[in-house]
Amino acid sequence: MAKDYYEILGVAKSATKEEIKKAYRKLALKYHPDKGGTKEDEAKFKEINEAYNILSNDEKRKSYDQFGHAGPNMGSGAGSYNWSDFAQSGYGTGGFNVNFEDLGGLGDIFGDFFGGARSSRAQKRGADVETEILIDFMDAVKGLQKEIVLDKLNQCDKCNGSGAEPGTKIKTCPTCGGSGQIKKARQTMFGTFAQVATCDDCDGTGKIPEKRCSKCGGAGRLKERKGLKIKIPAGIEDGQTIRLSGKGEAGPKGTPAGDLYLRIRIKPNREFERSGPNIKSETEISFPRASLGTVVEVKTVHGKVKLKIPAGTQSGKIFKIAEKGMPIINSGRFGDHLVTVVVKTPTRLTRKQKKLLEEFESDKGWL
Ligand SMILES: [Zn+2]
Ligand SMILES: [Zn+2]
Repeated sequence: MAKDYYEILGVAKSATKEEIKKAYRKLALKYHPDKGGTKEDEAKFKEINEAYNILSNDEKRKSYDQFGHAGPNMGSGAGSYNWSDFAQSGYGTGGFNVNFEDLGGLGDIFGDFFGGARSSRAQKRGADVETEILIDFMDAVKGLQKEIVLDKLNQCDKCNGSGAEPGTKIKTCPTCGGSGQIKKARQTMFGTFAQVATCDDCDGTGKIPEKRCSKCGGAGRLKERKGLKIKIPAGIEDGQTIRLSGKGEAGPKGTPAGDLYLRIRIKPNREFERSGPNIKSETEISFPRASLGTVVEVKTVHGKVKLKIPAGTQSGKIFKIAEKGMPIINSGRFGDHLVTVVVKTPTRLTRKQKKLLEEFESDKGWL
């Protein structure tokens, strides 16, 4: 049973449009994904939007009041946006890349509202950095630790990010009086709102140096090429992204650093082909061995394994070697190795072989 939309927004059934809007704004801010909340918060945020989408629309609200969730217009219109749009990177931690079209009628509100809310709530921070690295197939199997070199803004080591020349004082920002925030009036489609924004002079820190650091000029950060040790877990898939929290660019004046997003590309391998957690390969056997049965040695990423091929095996038959495939990340388990038997037909025959085959073929009844 779906939850009551009025209950979700915490308003009475008789609530006015204005009351609904107000309740929605309050809740949306609280559970907004930009705050880096839990999965439950995300679910709650979704629920709030769904409720608001219905209750803010006269027609939908009327239908909902009459018929509940089963009513007309309750279908795809309710929360029909793609949640993954919220989860994408690109704007800070728990990034927020809203596809306004997907939000339907809510787009304007989000645009206005969160555009402002974002800058006022969040302290300044460094930019996220995205980079791609190419690794070998076997590194994806075994896991890898390596150093990569990044050209990005790093915290100034002379002033430790403060922007002040070591030994000099740091004073209270005169622009914001040390609060790090300044009040602004903001026009939106719902009227004028008093809004709090980050102070540009101190980047929200509330402090400014009396004498700027001679190395970074007061910015607290510097563009540098620097090595960074990274760890890639065994079992990583081609195209997967690893987020390294706080390893992006340093924030201005010692504010938090952004995140580093590492996109992993895996070089193809000549012998092995990956299929999710499983690894596929081929093994060739002669047609007499396929007919009589044999044992073959199959190369897996975990070493060679002996595999019994029963008599009468057809070309194309796939055998499973359990748990000799890719590691499954953070599970301690492995996928399987799937080997396809390819039965080879001889292309060059000696006179004797030809005679034997002719004899074999003349003894009908095998096919
Ligand atoms: Zn410095
Ligand atoms: Zn300030």
